[in-house]
Amino acid sequence: MSRKFLIAGNWKMNKTTDEALDLAREIHAEVGAQGNVQVVVCPPYTSLAEVSGELESSQVAVGSQNMHHEPSGAYTGEISAEMLRQSFISFVILGHSERRQFFGETNESVNLKILAAVANNLKPIYCIGETLEQREAGQTLEVVRTQMSVGLANFPSDQVDNLVIAYEPVWAIGTGKTATDEMAQEVHADVRAALQEQFGEDAANGVRILYGGSMKPENATGLLSQPDVDGGLIGGASLTSRAFCGIVQAAIDHGS
Ligand code: PEP
Repeated sequence: MSRKFLIAGNWKMNKTTDEALDLAREIHAEVGAQGNVQVVVCPPYTSLAEVSGELESSQVAVGSQNMHHEPSGAYTGEISAEMLRQSFISFVILGHSERRQFFGETNESVNLKILAAVANNLKPIYCIGETLEQREAGQTLEVVRTQMSVGLANFPSDQVDNLVIAYEPVWAIGTGKTATDEMAQEVHADVRAALQEQFGEDAANGVRILYGGSMKPENATGLLSQPDVDGGLIGGASLTSRAFCGIVQAAIDHGS
């Protein structure tokens, strides 16, 4: 089955609203008209509404970097799925390793968010991946399998089309170290096998599995050439239009 490449930029805690709008305008101008590769940008909360306004007339979708699983209530500093929907947000990154590391998120708490996201018509980009210690102990596939089974528990089978997985080895995020093409493919193939076991072959074959971890224009083509790598979740290289659109272009070239 052919899956459309998805390239998503995670801007993290970077960019004031003015800076975010500048970057969104550049991305709009460079890759906003094409639809061969799906492009998503995930700015901080403070510029979600402005960036979605700028990109409304483009093919670029907007995502959030997190959300709370409850619809409303006394959760100071948090934001709900419905609030995101009202800002025309269509994707949400969930379970990023920085959320797990610095904000105590677990497979169980991320599972609640994933279920709330799909119940509200948001497409979750569910991040999984092992630490260096776990890789060196030979535990990569076991860790990823647990993240898949607990994080996706009770996931509704009629929503599988809206699910995106991002395999992000923690040791490769922001470090300049990238998994080799073969290392990425090995885990992606196993993630697809886990999806097959849970949802069946046809559904699993339609799910995009992104690679994340120091992806840049120079290494994108090799990673995107792997049969189960369906795009990228980009951190550092998503902060300039030159690097980000370079990766989008690599995906366009590879897909054509
Ligand atoms: C990320 O944080 O999702 C990420 C992949 O970051 P970087 O590209 O900077 O490694």
